Amino acid sequence: MKIFVLNAGSSSHKSCLFDLSQGNADGQVARPLWRASLDWTHAEGSVELTASGAGEETVTVLPLTDKGEGLEAMVETLVQGQTQVLDDLAEIGAVGHRVVHGGCDYQQPVVVDSGVKETIRQLIPLAPAHNPANLQGIEAMERILGGVPQVAVFDTAFHSAMPPAAFTYPGPYAWVEQGIRRYGFHGISHQYVAQRAADLMGRDLEDLKLLTCHLGNGCSLAAVKGGVCVDTTMGFTPLDGLMMGNRSGSVDPGILIYLMRQEGYSADQLDRLLNKESGLKGLSGVSNDMRVVAEAMEQGSDQAQLAIGVFIHRLRREMGGMVASLGGLDGVVFTAGIGENTPLVWRRACEPFEFLGLRLKAELNRAQNDQDIAAADAAVRVWVIHTQEEWAIAQACAALLQPA
Ligand code: AMP
Repeated sequence: MKIFVLNAGSSSHKSCLFDLSQGNADGQVARPLWRASLDWTHAEGSVELTASGAGEETVTVLPLTDKGEGLEAMVETLVQGQTQVLDDLAEIGAVGHRVVHGGCDYQQPVVVDSGVKETIRQLIPLAPAHNPANLQGIEAMERILGGVPQVAVFDTAFHSAMPPAAFTYPGPYAWVEQGIRRYGFHGISHQYVAQRAADLMGRDLEDLKLLTCHLGNGCSLAAVKGGVCVDTTMGFTPLDGLMMGNRSGSVDPGILIYLMRQEGYSADQLDRLLNKESGLKGLSGVSNDMRVVAEAMEQGSDQAQLAIGVFIHRLRREMGGMVASLGGLDGVVFTAGIGENTPLVWRRACEPFEFLGLRLKAELNRAQNDQDIAAADAAVRVWVIHTQEEWAIAQACAALLQPA
């Protein structure tokens, strides 16, 4: 079965086409036949379309502002031009969508119907930056591909098994009734890397206590016990928890009350401050990108040094919390842009946990492949795993539509 995966964001669309009939018996990730992206931030009034397939890559700037038209142009590169990999769009058997917020309603991937779309719409207030784009992507693909089954795979779903003590905020009880609770995000990635770590360790996921660290522009941790997420750092929104590229992560809510009272901040101003002007970018004053901040630190920037210091401090503190929720530790996994590429972060994050048997190799290097970076005789394995969210979505679609 050929599965088209769409990750629709507010400023970009990323797509892959997988052929699941191409064997992956050894648990390896299949390479997509084709991948493409739309960058809507390229320049006002236009979109940059990058497509690769059939050994070719094309980059085109199109004078489009309508997201549906952009997606149509992207899909055309599957059946036309240098990147053509299909004779007919009818060869596509299913479309898998990454949907950020499934609320309490969806604990598993679901086939999209009008009820599912309505629920995703109702959840927009909880994920205003993501769910509208996800819904728009679903509706556009329905128009482009007709009756092909569409599957929604939710970033919140993996966290839905957390116990009430982990997902409940200690506010008034009315919050429980209003759905103001921890939902957690990056679930597709946490679930994929936990399973991959178990496979690499040659162990059953059911027997393991794993701490998964998704450290990209957004950052979150998950405590995965026996394959079930029992705790996570992101919360009601993706703003909670760790310090991130542009986002503050957890701060004393009293700061917000102070800024509203003393400085007259509005909700929109606070939103911007916490989601766009904080984190690595806010503290370093140079960038949200760890590479740039680390370089500034090496060149002597005190602000960059402080930003990385706070990032590491908070990461360690939250890692400690996840270990407590797990009640033990068999493995730690680092993934996503920072997690896959930054020996400095691996080393400094793991240092305080040496007393638990978490020790790294003397020499640490980035690698193309997933790698175990723990010392040979360490009691806890430490993995750097390249997250494969698109592949995980394709597999979830196949499992739902063609159960074994
Ligand atoms: P993601 O959200 O997973 O795409 O991660 C994006 C972030 O990963 C960037 O903003 C960088 O901070 C970080 N990143 C990506 N590549 C590298 C690298 N080679 N070294 C260090 N950090 C990286």
